[in-house]
Amino acid sequence: MSKVETILKQFADVAANPKKAMDDYTAETGKGAVGILPYYAPEELVHATGYLPMGIWGGNKSISKARTYLPAFACSIMQQVMELQCEGAYDDLKAVIISVPCDTLKCLSQKWKGTSPVIVFTHPQNRGLEAANQFLVQEYKILKTKLEKILGVTITNADIEASIKVYNENRAIMREFVKVAADYPQVIDPIARHAVFKARMFMEKSKHTALVKELLEEIKAMPIEPWTGKKVIVTGILAEPNGLLEIFKEFGLAIVDDDLAQESRQIRVDVLDGEEGPLYRLAKVWQNMYGCSLATDTKKVRGKMLMNKVAQTDADAVIVAMMKFCDPEEWDYPVYYRQFEEKGIKSLMIEVDQEAQSFEQIKTRIQSFVENM
Ligand code: SF4
Repeated sequence: MSKVETILKQFADVAANPKKAMDDYTAETGKGAVGILPYYAPEELVHATGYLPMGIWGGNKSISKARTYLPAFACSIMQQVMELQCEGAYDDLKAVIISVPCDTLKCLSQKWKGTSPVIVFTHPQNRGLEAANQFLVQEYKILKTKLEKILGVTITNADIEASIKVYNENRAIMREFVKVAADYPQVIDPIARHAVFKARMFMEKSKHTALVKELLEEIKAMPIEPWTGKKVIVTGILAEPNGLLEIFKEFGLAIVDDDLAQESRQIRVDVLDGEEGPLYRLAKVWQNMYGCSLATDTKKVRGKMLMNKVAQTDADAVIVAMMKFCDPEEWDYPVYYRQFEEKGIKSLMIEVDQEAQSFEQIKTRIQSFVENM
């Protein structure tokens, strides 16, 4: 096995077994993990405690118990989270942090069935106002106080600054990874690309950064070869499980950039330097976020952002990975679809259902889309 293959296997192993990643971390540090539900929690605050922030983004299970608590039209990812909660999958977490930027998350935050303490906070949707940022600073102060109490630690400003540095470095190396993966699709196929991103949710970030650096050094020493397949940008909440990404691979689709909430939206905005305290600058990340269905944007820049990505990467098309029953993503779609039509950008929408075990319909649609390209 080459060094690149060995490193990619390490990422794939972590991505496939978050429980082991958490247990290994606990054995190594004597501390445990804090669950982070999607979207824009200030993970740096958890990192500053020495506990491991663990992303919670659903799974790939058959749903039965979750139906008691969530309506059938709740999104696929939260059905999975509820099912896993009911099975006690999150009960080893020391705490769970939930932001509530959509109705489904608001609903889920009030119905948590796990035994870990839950910390809920709100992102203000009027993102242009200084008062909104001050509101979020207050939310982060409350979150920090609750974390300190639950974990029995004190989080100093110096701790937070150190964690901000670690996270900014990780975001920077991941942005470089996205570019390198686009140049070397023969080496980084869609499944490997996803594994590098997914492992990021379960690894201590400085360790993840070091491993990605090692990977990039190896890959960049290789010659860049021409890609004979098609190149695509993927947008949406997430694109998994691997069965879905296998189809991309089978039909020669290279993912040359993404706008997935689970992937590049996580690394899009850094915490900026400045005179203000760390909580203020952490809160600013929400105001600086763009092109995401969860962050209200009256100017609707997402379509333009995606078209820029198409131009920058010379992509052939945009694949929309539409999370089943996700209202925020469904509301954005008609706006950017019309912009694509006006500019002649090819796109294909596929539905992501985390419960799915078979992908024949998606396979047929992707196959015909590729043939038509
Ligand atoms: S943003 Fe969409 S996918 Fe995410 S929790 Fe809300 S409804 Fe579900």
